[in-house]
Amino acid sequence: MTLCPAPPVAEVVLETRDLVVQYDGVGAVNGINLVVHRGRITSLVGSNGAGKTTVMKACAGLVTPARGSIDFHGQSLIGMPADRIVRQGLTLVPEGRRLFGSMTVRDNLRVGAYTRSDETGISADFDRVLGYFPMLGLRLDSLARDLSGGQQQMLAVGRALMSSPRLLMLDEPSIGLAPAIVDTIAEIIMTISKSGVDILLVEQNARMALGLADYAYVLDNGRIMLEGSGPELSADEKVKETYLGL
Ligand code: ATP
Repeated sequence: MTLCPAPPVAEVVLETRDLVVQYDGVGAVNGINLVVHRGRITSLVGSNGAGKTTVMKACAGLVTPARGSIDFHGQSLIGMPADRIVRQGLTLVPEGRRLFGSMTVRDNLRVGAYTRSDETGISADFDRVLGYFPMLGLRLDSLARDLSGGQQQMLAVGRALMSSPRLLMLDEPSIGLAPAIVDTIAEIIMTISKSGVDILLVEQNARMALGLADYAYVLDNGRIMLEGSGPELSADEKVKETYLGL
């Protein structure tokens, strides 16, 4: 008898267990267990106020959970300052981009590397980012506030990549962008994933998020309502009706 080898189990990169986050005692995240696996794009979808941003902020050290655990590559992030979390390799591209509008594109990218001192690596990542976003290379001396919405989103992703993340968390990268630019951003997310950076993506644009996702979670009212592969969830009648408008 020939034994088939078991399929390889993907490494767990990020895991939250029973995560609870409250604002002024009111639960925004009410006990979430989620896992991001190595080499995969993981998406969180859900309507306004479902708690998606709060999950990411907790992982980035920007809000303190009331309960639960967050482990990144086996290390607890609870109580770890945000800049140390970036040094560990977990970087957030925040909703609304939060660029330094009165600074140039070049300086915004340099700021992204604030936790690093390896000049050779920083320089290589600068070139890599301009490879992903050639448009930024043409606008290096422009002020960030003078870029279009799509270019600003690219700069926000580029700035995050300058920290050399192992896991990139993107909060609503498609918001407010024209469909053609949304497609470009989606392609870049795929390219970044293929380059070996793990991705956690939050989107209200469920079509984009489920289209990209290897695995996805549907959040509602601070809880996970459904989870599965992108294609599984895209085929789910409730998801189709509620989030895909079908
Ligand atoms: P959106 O897509 O609108 O950003 P979301 O799914 O990301 O929604 P969160 O932003 O995490 O949801 O918000 C979850 C809940 O927490 C909502 O009820 C929201 O009003 C509340 N909330 C978020 N930030 C704060 C804050 N700083 N202070 C008080 N309540 C907040």
